[in-house]
Amino acid sequence: MSSDFPIELSDIGKTYKIYHRPIDRIREMYSLKRRSYHADFQALADVNLAIPKGQTVGIIGPNGSGKSTLLEIICGTLTPTRGTKKVQGRISALLELGAGFNPAFSGRENVYLNASLIGISKEEIDARFDQIVEFSGISDFIEHPVSTYSSGMYVRLAFAVAINTDPDILIVDEALAVGDIRFQRKCYRRFAELQKAGKTILFVTHSVDLVQAHCSNAIYLKNGKISSEGDPKQVIQEYLEDMFGPQSPDERNLAAVFGTSTQNRDLDNSPELDFQSYDDNKPDTERRKHGKDDLSIPSDQFAERQNYNAAEYRWGEQKAFFYDYKLEEGGGNPKSFFSTGDRIRLAAKVFFTTSLDRLIYGFTIKTVDGQVVFGSNSRSREMGFFGGESGQTVIVNFDFVCSLVPGDYFISIGIAADDDARDNIAIDRRYDAICLPVVGHVGDFGVSDLSFNLHVDPDLNF
Ligand code: ADP
Ligand code: MG
Repeated sequence: MSSDFPIELSDIGKTYKIYHRPIDRIREMYSLKRRSYHADFQALADVNLAIPKGQTVGIIGPNGSGKSTLLEIICGTLTPTRGTKKVQGRISALLELGAGFNPAFSGRENVYLNASLIGISKEEIDARFDQIVEFSGISDFIEHPVSTYSSGMYVRLAFAVAINTDPDILIVDEALAVGDIRFQRKCYRRFAELQKAGKTILFVTHSVDLVQAHCSNAIYLKNGKISSEGDPKQVIQEYLEDMFGPQSPDERNLAAVFGTSTQNRDLDNSPELDFQSYDDNKPDTERRKHGKDDLSIPSDQFAERQNYNAAEYRWGEQKAFFYDYKLEEGGGNPKSFFSTGDRIRLAAKVFFTTSLDRLIYGFTIKTVDGQVVFGSNSRSREMGFFGGESGQTVIVNFDFVCSLVPGDYFISIGIAADDDARDNIAIDRRYDAICLPVVGHVGDFGVSDLSFNLHVDPDLNF
């Protein structure tokens, strides 16, 4: 075929062998009867792709859908089990965080090492070295061992190498999410230059907005297969509907959609969260400590609801607790993704297992990297205290305007009890429990949409 398609895959499949115990691999190797000790796991199947030269292709799909496997096969770091692949041109790839970096070496040494792995000569790197360091922004640290780098520095340097070595094909696997916003913007500007120069770019991201902003083409992978491919807008729509929409209730794996950053979230390091001045309340290890056997206690419905984030972080005594919610447009229509300017209502049901008073309700929106966008609570709003009787259900409504730039956000809600001695006591705090995807025109950056306008007045009206 012609070089108009630098990447061509036909019937590519990848099956991993899963060994339940390490010993099984050895047993299989030495089995005289050639017995099998593994299970097969199909990570990719029937992948047919021809990526035209000069395209920027965004690859989206939930965790485990085979995105990294696909990129690695294209890069040649992984051999497919089936099918054929043709790749023409020099590939520069940023696959995993720090892959190809040796922690004991300095940044400088690693630049050379990394570049040699992608077939770039020492002379070429000599010529580009300053540019790489400048792009990475890590300045003097270039002489320090990379083991002393933060993950952000790692990515910046790796990315600077990948992007400044004149690749024909640039492949980036989610790594950019680690860099800071300013660095990301610099990378996307560089993407634009590479695009103008007719280079082919493939990148995996969990952010559909980035795909919409930067890609001429998108691929949605689902369970190792291409579920849809083509115009980013349509592909994104299909993906969002699958993930958030009513069409497939079985697939609301929002933690997957929102990437790994939702898991392993270190809350101790999070900036101020919903209720002010919560101090050392520790997560409740025993759930439901409300020994009222005669009450019929509603079961938690969150997991059944759209936009629920299974990786939420929850604690509190749960003498009163949130057990259900709905997210809807101001007009009352249930909705799972929103546009800038939409009025949003989140209605959450609270059940009281004990009569309580002096309660405070709180609400916070955060970005996927934990930055608080907005927080408020009934105390800071001077609304007085709330309460409820044992066995009672109340609905707490959180009503707000979606003044956010497109992106992925999380909503946290909480109930706390005012206590003179201990400040606030967590009753039920559900951090990052609800995902709030905001879609729409991409171009502005930051988090808040200020309905900004810009005019230039030629008539000197001041
Ligand atoms: P994604 O990048 O979309 O999250 P991956 O391509 O990393 O997905 O993985 C696809 C699937 O293959 C996952 O279910 C993952 O657990 C599995 N997988 C990936 N690498 C291996 C491996 N070396 N051995 C066994 N299973 C693997
Ligand atoms: Mg991956």
